[in-house]
Amino acid sequence: MITGKNYIGNELSSKGKVTYKTINPKLNTENEWQFTEATEAEIDAAAQKATEAFAVYKQKSDKERAAFLRAIGKEIEALGQPLIDAYTSESGLPEGRAMGERGRTIGQLNAFASLLEQGDWVDATIDKGNPERTPAPKPDLRKMQIATGPVAVFGASNFPFAFSTAGGDTASALAAGCPVIVKSHPMHAATGELVSSAVIKAAEKTGMPDGVFSNLNSKGISVGEQLVKHPAIKGVGFTGSIKAGKALVQLGANREEPIPVYAEMGSINPVVILPEALKANGESWAQKYAGSINMGAGQFCTNPGLILGIAGAELARFGKHLAASLGEQPANCMLHPNIHSAYESGKQQMLDAEGTEVLAVALEAEGANDGKPALVKVTGDDFLANGNLHSEVFGPFSMLVACASKAQLLEVLNELEGQLTGSLIAETTEVAAYEDVIDALRSRVGRILFNGVPTGVEVCPAMHHGGPFPSTSDAKFTSVGNDAIYRWVRPVSYQDWPQELLPDALKDGNPLGILRKVDGAYIKA
Ligand code: NAP
Repeated sequence: MITGKNYIGNELSSKGKVTYKTINPKLNTENEWQFTEATEAEIDAAAQKATEAFAVYKQKSDKERAAFLRAIGKEIEALGQPLIDAYTSESGLPEGRAMGERGRTIGQLNAFASLLEQGDWVDATIDKGNPERTPAPKPDLRKMQIATGPVAVFGASNFPFAFSTAGGDTASALAAGCPVIVKSHPMHAATGELVSSAVIKAAEKTGMPDGVFSNLNSKGISVGEQLVKHPAIKGVGFTGSIKAGKALVQLGANREEPIPVYAEMGSINPVVILPEALKANGESWAQKYAGSINMGAGQFCTNPGLILGIAGAELARFGKHLAASLGEQPANCMLHPNIHSAYESGKQQMLDAEGTEVLAVALEAEGANDGKPALVKVTGDDFLANGNLHSEVFGPFSMLVACASKAQLLEVLNELEGQLTGSLIAETTEVAAYEDVIDALRSRVGRILFNGVPTGVEVCPAMHHGGPFPSTSDAKFTSVGNDAIYRWVRPVSYQDWPQELLPDALKDGNPLGILRKVDGAYIKA
């Protein structure tokens, strides 16, 4: 049942006076549930509980936290069809996507559980002491990762499950040993509340402390601001716009005790398509890219918003095929009327910009919030002259840039801001002649693809979903995959501690049987 209240640990609370409803973007009407924005007192209460919970939660073994994460997945699944219905009615996304994203979310929770069960993630490093060393004895030093403290997570609009309440940020923070306070996304508060009920149930069933998880509702920016400023919070996870991400990073940095805000923001995900690939498979790449541009109404952080090639007959033909394929794509419902109107105005600015040639623009759509796909073409000169053309248009939009030469292609790449992904479409035989282009692309991105589309982010240890600013606030960290846990921990070195007082991960006998770096060599023994 959806109550519209905040979860302050395992208590439901609604002290506030500010209420709001979510919107069904397909029907363009309000949903029935009413939510109460969290008050300052409720934010404080959640923070207080999280601080108290941290003292207990960080002492739980990796296996106990793994059981908690697996239980969350089971409880989410047990919510059944009402959860899927809430998701579809608050996001406009189809049921198949809801099921797929729920599976991904449970998969992420289980992946972190497996990581904890394996135990190696603590990066245990041992440099044994040597009292005989001259001129001074060498101390015994043993290092491992430990949790930093309560984390605030902002639910993302475009992934109501996988990047929200119990999404990757929450799963990785809970795995690390950090309690989580979620600032629920106002567009899918009912979905968020249902998932929160699953997290709370799982916490109770697995003996986790009250306050290990809270969920605060809000429709304005002040709850999020107060959370980031709250002294109890030691880190923040965010996915959304550049404007909001930058504001939160500033807020985190300006605190008395500065904290890291891991913000995943805008990206136009450049695609470089080389001449031989255009000649060999231009039409088929056009079809694949039309699907990628329009997938999920283009509301993915990895959406390919910029395609770069060298001007000529082959690129012109590719543009025509891409426009034709995009023209065959249906307009899909966007997440919210505001996101839809932001898309329409951003797209219009691009269509009207000096030098852009409209290759495709859908004019008809069934629903009021359907995102009509569009493709424009621009020369490399115009792209370089107008920085506004480099901005993200969040939705099913892409821009084809016809560079005058390889040198200009290089110049365009060097002018781009940091990106989550970069894709190279090439025949292997032509790669050697473009090493400098490939190097420029790699220097701008966190993930570089060869002959593929950037949409679709595999959840696995080798994934890096983070890139140079402004795609993320810290390119060294990922928000997808096992390494996302390292945002919420810090190393601590134990010097000259007696064996019996060391954590198990650092004891000589390796009672956990984990992989460790001992005197420079990785060993399990
Ligand atoms: P958003 O505007 O970035 O908002 C995300 C969350 O941050 C919301 O909960 C919002 O709170 C909060 N927030 C916004 N500004 C804030 C500030 N100055 N201080 C504290 N909190 C703040 O994203 P959105 O509402 O989901 O979508 C808007 C646009 O963001 C989209 O049109 C798109 O351009 C972009 N976006 C990008 C990605 C991506 O992956 N790159 C993903 C999603 C959205 P309230 O809503 O409660 O005010």
